Amino acid sequence: MAGPQANIPVLRLLLTEDNPADAELELRELKRAGLRIAHRIADTEQGFVSALREFSPDVILSDFSMPGFDGMAALALARDLAPDTPFVFVSGTLGEEYAIRALRNGATDYVLKTNLMRLPAAVERAFTESKERRERRRLTRIREFSSRINWALVRLRERDELFAAISRIAVEVGGLRGARIGMLDPGTKDVIWRAWFGSWPEGSGPDALQASAREDESGSGLAGKALRALAPAISNDIANDSGVRSREKFLSFGVKAMAAFPLVVDGAAAGVLGLLASEVGYFDQDEVNLLAELAANVSFALELMHKQDRITYLALYDPLTGLPNRTLFHERLTQSLQSAGRNHTSLALVLIDLERFKAINHTLGQQAGDGVLQAVAQRLESAAGDINRLARLGSNLFAVMLRQIGGAAEVARWLEQVSVQVFGTPFTVDEREARLASKAGIAIFPEDGADADALLRNAEASLKRAKQTAEAYLFYAPHINARVSEEVELEHRLRKAVERGELFLHFQPKLDLVTRRIVGLEALMRWKAPDGVPVLPVTFIPVLEQTGLILEAGRQAIAAATGTYRSWQAQGLEPPRIAVNVSQLQLRRKSFVEDVRAALRADGADGGGVDLEITESLLMHDVDESVRKLAALRDIGLRISLDDFGTGFSSLAYLSRLPLDALKIDRGFVQGMTENPHDTSIVGTIISLAQALRLKVVAEGVETEQQAQLLRLLRCDQAQGFLFSRPVPAEDIEALLEK
Ligand code: C2E
Ligand code: MG
Ligand code: MG
Repeated sequence: MAGPQANIPVLRLLLTEDNPADAELELRELKRAGLRIAHRIADTEQGFVSALREFSPDVILSDFSMPGFDGMAALALARDLAPDTPFVFVSGTLGEEYAIRALRNGATDYVLKTNLMRLPAAVERAFTESKERRERRRLTRIREFSSRINWALVRLRERDELFAAISRIAVEVGGLRGARIGMLDPGTKDVIWRAWFGSWPEGSGPDALQASAREDESGSGLAGKALRALAPAISNDIANDSGVRSREKFLSFGVKAMAAFPLVVDGAAAGVLGLLASEVGYFDQDEVNLLAELAANVSFALELMHKQDRITYLALYDPLTGLPNRTLFHERLTQSLQSAGRNHTSLALVLIDLERFKAINHTLGQQAGDGVLQAVAQRLESAAGDINRLARLGSNLFAVMLRQIGGAAEVARWLEQVSVQVFGTPFTVDEREARLASKAGIAIFPEDGADADALLRNAEASLKRAKQTAEAYLFYAPHINARVSEEVELEHRLRKAVERGELFLHFQPKLDLVTRRIVGLEALMRWKAPDGVPVLPVTFIPVLEQTGLILEAGRQAIAAATGTYRSWQAQGLEPPRIAVNVSQLQLRRKSFVEDVRAALRADGADGGGVDLEITESLLMHDVDESVRKLAALRDIGLRISLDDFGTGFSSLAYLSRLPLDALKIDRGFVQGMTENPHDTSIVGTIISLAQALRLKVVAEGVETEQQAQLLRLLRCDQAQGFLFSRPVPAEDIEALLEK
């Protein structure tokens, strides 16, 4: 019966607990919160290990001390055997020191038995975070998988060679346990396996496991089903699926799920792709979509081969440049548009026309002209990174499709880059140099057209307009042209400003909430547009980030901050340390530590008087790497604050591992505090958390005396905001320091 809970997924919990009554209480609390639970209990090392292996829990809950086994030992085992499974301590007593040690050792969270009310939220959060982490990894894998498969599809023109490559990539990159590809013999309806990779039962390859598309017993397996139905056949838990043939053999081999995808040529079953996985539930909807697309691409390649390779090849590729021709491009564009439609992503179609090409043909001769076209095609291929996205549509007309674009400005930026890469250096023909320029027209899916024909038509229309005007490129929709040219203009101006060092800093004091003395400064970047009007950081900082200019601008900010600090020292003032904001782009660079050090030209062990502020969410990308970099900078005297705290999603486990000195409470919470009790309690919680982790707390955006008083009562250390001072030029700070 489908009760109200039928749609909530069942959470698999492993409880490490020696006291059955406690376990019962914990489960009751979770169920009361509406969670559906399947659980195992273990209180010995052996039981714990075998539960990890066989039960594959989603979340582990562990007591801290048990007679035979201990929580820290369980944690170490779990980190070793199931590093992705969140581990939450549930304990009667747990000193602060111990709690922090547990978190440092990789625990996700801890909940006191006296406060079991918190348990459901902690479990759900731990579970969601680990799911998100796995999801990110899955996406990286899928990207790599698709690009390797595409590579094989484009390069390999021999069927069995292609099948071998695909089976291998499915296992080595796609994460499958085994893959095999077979062709259907239309006469006997037997499947003849042509390639396989990975581990198959009996070690003898898949030959031993016959498959066919017949209606009898030999065709009752997944491959047979897929071939007859022309649809994927999936078994996500073969242990509980008596419909799977020879399942004992697979089970004894550690295979837990299987799938078969038909290969379809000219609307009929031609072959089958069989896949094995070692996880129950491996073939979820996303995975099936991905693999179905793979099977469709293999089918497409097969179809080409079927149609007598060479002839088809010539019919689909431009013989001069080797690029896809209009027919193939149209087909690919249609496919890409379907997937963009399904996934609600945008796609840009760019048509590039070579200007003055006829003149080259005329003056240098047709052969020279052909050489130029080949060179253009090569440069375009390396700029686009993938021949599948390109085509030569006419004598001097090329097309590129850009999938999953973030917006028109991104396309414009790409195009400007490409025109430098492709047309920036002259072409050499017969030891003579020829320069070429280009015009481009762009149409965007879905706004400018729902199918390949409409997009091609509209991109052609915008190209025609671009040729009639002075613009190097035009979008189809007029309002996009206006917006993009504004953004591009802003970019150009910013680029110049960064090159000329025209960005500058204002400084905002941080005060000790008890003494109200200045104990630090935050450096904030400022820019005046050429007309002298200041542009807001919320407008220009994102552009700096999107264009990568933030790397240079950020370097200048650090250099300027340390320079200011040193000059104040030289004037005999006693300046407080200056905190500079650092962007994720800077932090993610391999050379981040070196970059900062070079900008500081640090003498002495005080880090040049500079501290860093890093926004919470940025650190989550690669925690180990961030920890290493931040620790190295702390070693040379810089202190690190986590900025805008509360807006990101760092868990306690991350937080306790990061080498930090301070947390800055986001302005939003501080400003809501005096009106909204919920915000007050968040601020209070952040402050106690910081104290437990021995971090200083700074409140941002303090605008009223009432907020300052409340923060002091909550034992917040420092505050910053318009109440004390707006961000001001260095001279104004000097005046303050002199007092
Ligand atoms: P942030 O680091 O959180 O900086 C605090 C922001 O709050 C500043 O905005 C500051 O002017 C503003 N603020 C301070 N006190 C108050 C107050 O009492 N009330 C209100 N309403 N606002 C207050 P600003 O200068 O516009 O900077 C915005 C953001 O731009 C910064 O947020 C930071 O994320 C980024 N940013 C600024 N300078 C740099 C920089 O040099 N590098 C990088 N990567 N980012 C920067
Ligand atoms: Mg900041
Ligand atoms: Mg902030």
